[in-house]
Amino acid sequence: MKKIVTILGARPQFIKSSAVSRQILKHNKKFDSLKEIIIHTGQHFDERMSNIFFDEMSIQKPKYFLDINDKSHGAMTGQMIEKIEQALLKENPDWVLVYGDTNSTLAGAIAASKLNIKIAHVEAGLRSFNMQMPEEINRILTDRLSSILFCPTDTAIKNLQNEGISNWKNEVRTSLCGDVMLDCSLFYKKLAKKPINIQLDNEYVLCTIHRAENTDNKTRLQNIFSGLNEISKKIQIILPIHPRTKNLIQNINIDKSNIKIVEPVGYLNMIWLIDNCNLVLTDSGGLQKEAYFFKKNCITLRDETEWTELVDIGANQLAGTNKNDILDAYTRFMNVSDAHFELKLYGDGNASKSIVSELAR
Ligand code: UDP
Repeated sequence: MKKIVTILGARPQFIKSSAVSRQILKHNKKFDSLKEIIIHTGQHFDERMSNIFFDEMSIQKPKYFLDINDKSHGAMTGQMIEKIEQALLKENPDWVLVYGDTNSTLAGAIAASKLNIKIAHVEAGLRSFNMQMPEEINRILTDRLSSILFCPTDTAIKNLQNEGISNWKNEVRTSLCGDVMLDCSLFYKKLAKKPINIQLDNEYVLCTIHRAENTDNKTRLQNIFSGLNEISKKIQIILPIHPRTKNLIQNINIDKSNIKIVEPVGYLNMIWLIDNCNLVLTDSGGLQKEAYFFKKNCITLRDETEWTELVDIGANQLAGTNKNDILDAYTRFMNVSDAHFELKLYGDGNASKSIVSELAR
């Protein structure tokens, strides 16, 4: 029996891990050879940012809940390393499985590496080449410490090659497995639910904003809302608001009355909202791809993206936070939508299957 300790902490990780955990259960029906234990760092902790995903997606209850949140990056990561180390010493797993690029990812990787436990990183090799982003720091360091790098795209593999992965420690392996978020979208599409408490027009734009580079910079946030305000005069904007953004927009002096700001929604509602919207406007990493999975164009409220292939094929436009650029991108996509949504940029929906078979090897 191989023991896997999965480290989770933030909303996108709950979603991504659900696909792999489901696959572990499937694998065990046949082979009964993997045991998964979950550590939840507590980075996202409330009903709408955490519990709803565990409930809706039937994710196993975490054995360890560390309750570390609402702290500066250093304090949060440091406290997580300490508590994850204690749990790993008790569990002594064969693998530590980490997802994406949050402080929980990095803390898990550091704690495991110091105990010489092998690390598997899902969503490895992604780069924005913007070292101002905490996520970029987290993913570069996590990749460097991992033994298996599960890459969603060719670009991710190339990024690792460019960083000289062949000269890293001997046993490091890359696996081009596709994107676990595609597995999730395909699985949950059948279960998607129209939100009953949001009054929707027939046509709407789905928007999310949470990235620190936008929320923690008043000018950028102001500019984004200025663009949103213009767009909301033409079409309904649904904005499920991230708790971080919720607090900060109180200080934004722009008319927001036309923008439908709602509480964060669960994944089943979110998938429905993506599937039925006209366009996505976001600074989220995951949502850029989900827009593509559901054949929607996406305006990205950032200056760069890790998912460059979406820009290359014309499905995604990087608008940054300039009001006119946001409006231009909106006009472009409302008039023309000619991207090749049929391309299999993110695999075939079996990423979690290849991840689990690698871990079980
Ligand atoms: N999401 C959700 N409810 C919301 C907003 C987002 O379920 O109210 C989902 C979204 O569909 C995607 C994931 O959360 O699957 C993305 O998480 P987030 O944008 O917080 O993080 P990122 O992808 O930027 O790391």
